[in-house]
Amino acid sequence: MLCVDFHCHSIASGHAMNTIEELLRHADRKGIKGIAVTDHCPGIDNTFWLLKNKQAQANWQYGIKGPDIHYIKTFLSRYQPPEEVKAKLFKGLECNILQSGPMATDLPLSLAAKLDLVIASIHPLPSLFETKDKTIVTERVLLAMDDPIDLIGHPFRKGYDPDPELLVRKAIDKEIALELNNASMSLKKTELSSLVQMLELSKKLGCQIALSSDAHATNELGRDDYILPLLAETKFPDELIVNKTIKSSIEFIERRKKIRREMNLK
Ligand SMILES: [Zn+2]
Ligand SMILES: [Zn+2]
Repeated sequence: MLCVDFHCHSIASGHAMNTIEELLRHADRKGIKGIAVTDHCPGIDNTFWLLKNKQAQANWQYGIKGPDIHYIKTFLSRYQPPEEVKAKLFKGLECNILQSGPMATDLPLSLAAKLDLVIASIHPLPSLFETKDKTIVTERVLLAMDDPIDLIGHPFRKGYDPDPELLVRKAIDKEIALELNNASMSLKKTELSSLVQMLELSKKLGCQIALSSDAHATNELGRDDYILPLLAETKFPDELIVNKTIKSSIEFIERRKKIRREMNLK
């Protein structure tokens, strides 16, 4: 079980099963010390794009809805867990890396300084990311690292995997962590050879790694059954795991929040 889980989804994401409170209470039952609830960025909602492009019927399986900006604002400004809950709640967001255009991600910049944790990930969906061209994938992930984000989520999605060495080097430069995502491995969505390469390079060059379940239901929260064998296989050092303990998690989050605030966001 993860000590702190840096990536999970509540029902606000539309395709996840539990409320934030259910996730927190489950964390308490399992002895998980903290969870970052990182629902999808409003930009994941591509239903309007599909409709506008008359693809809604043909591509219904690619239609996905997320929370809107007002939900995220209320979550940030008003939501507090019940007092008896022990697990610490970090308020996060998982934004999308976009395949083209001047914006590398769809993170609403007005919220960037208020969040505890910002994940940027490729989600292969129409209007968000469709190309499998490795040069473009690498270019867009590297560009996303210039945005106020803290983690690259499931960095090696099958067919959409960037160059591991360029990724690791830029992550070090930007003090961003790369994610080891349990669900993307259990669902066989990860290019494992690139992930192992990422871990080996991170160990050699000193890149930070974050562990997460990417749970979409309480039964997945804190799961690390696919993560642990990889950490053991690569003899990965604990010092480079940003959320190894609750203390290191808070330190990482405070450091990243400061960096995001200083990015002079408009
Ligand atoms: Zn994701
Ligand atoms: Zn996710």
